[in-house]
Amino acid sequence: RGMSSVTIPPPAFCHRPLEAPFRYLFGPGPSNVPPRVLAAGGRPIIGHMHSEMFGIMNDIKKGIQYAFQTSNNMTLAMSGSGHTAMECALFNIVEPGESVLVAINGIWGERVAEIAERMGAKVHTLVKTPGGHFTNAEIEQALAKHKPVLFFLTHGESSAGLVHPVDGIGDICHKYNCLLLVDSVASLGAAPLLMDQQNIDILYTGSQKALNAPPGTAPISFSERACHKMFNRKTKPVSYLLDMTNLSNYWGNDGKPERIYHHTGPVSGFFALRESLAILAETGLENSWKHHTEVAEYFWKGLEDLGLKLFIKDKDLRLPSVTTIAIPEGYNWKELLAYIMKHHRIEFTGGLGPSVGMLLRIGLMGYNCNKANAAMALAALEDALKQCRMSKA
Ligand code: PMP
Repeated sequence: RGMSSVTIPPPAFCHRPLEAPFRYLFGPGPSNVPPRVLAAGGRPIIGHMHSEMFGIMNDIKKGIQYAFQTSNNMTLAMSGSGHTAMECALFNIVEPGESVLVAINGIWGERVAEIAERMGAKVHTLVKTPGGHFTNAEIEQALAKHKPVLFFLTHGESSAGLVHPVDGIGDICHKYNCLLLVDSVASLGAAPLLMDQQNIDILYTGSQKALNAPPGTAPISFSERACHKMFNRKTKPVSYLLDMTNLSNYWGNDGKPERIYHHTGPVSGFFALRESLAILAETGLENSWKHHTEVAEYFWKGLEDLGLKLFIKDKDLRLPSVTTIAIPEGYNWKELLAYIMKHHRIEFTGGLGPSVGMLLRIGLMGYNCNKANAAMALAALEDALKQCRMSKA
């Protein structure tokens, strides 16, 4: 018997064509990708260290600075999903043993608390049930008590459908010598957020929501204050891949004349992200925010006309990109979702983490955000409500 003989047969799928059916992605992400962005991602690959690639990365940096409304030099896109940016922020800013304060009102705070705990931070939490929000006074009290180096807040809580107020929180954090980290994965481009004016120290988002790029890249930016903390630490960050000393060089942000190989970035993902940032810039942030609000209000009215109850009562706290509705009485939520997928080719989703079994989530983001899609989502729901009522035992 030769050591080199192949014993595992070729898998049967190699004889089948790839199947990736068209779906209306009206969940909390990913959302459908417009042709211009798909085409950009389908361009021939160039090297990750070619000068043209560095030009494209510089464009992405400018695009993120516009989308975030920041002049931070330390602005880049992570090679990876939203979680990569989340871990990058925590790993670089916090040293083991330091205190962090995490606002938990859905799954994203839970995740951040878990990541911070894994890296050896002292984790303090401020907790509300999904859909709840924190007053600036509550946040200030907790900052005074725990003296954290970092405070985490989710702007668009996609597991609850809440958009959290941000005004004043950055100033409160700075008063207590604390940095403000904000997650805008589900809200960027859909709800107003101004990184510099709102004194946010670290802000990140994802490619696959209102930006309508494929999943797999995640814009992030660090203020001067954040840079001062992360570049004057005593210990090295636990992750080599996510070390900002290396990443800032890869993105040409460290002022060094040469970029040195660190890792191979997702070239196609960066092409697509560049185009999606270009579309947002062409559209204009204010137009994009206004458009999301108008379509969301039309959608909310339609839901109420169907007799459905919106999970977030206060209109001003509803996330325009991801709407949450209470599960209607007399229905099994999994059955509703399966029916709508099967008969309408539309993806809606249930809750996530602490909101599982509490609500349904419907996302209309960026390219997907228009009244025609909202009407289609409403018609699918109306049909499902007719067909899926549970018989009383
Ligand atoms: N934060 C929020 C608010 C999100 O909605 C998501 C994605 N659902 C994430 C973080 C995580 O992003 P990803 O799945 O791209 O890692």
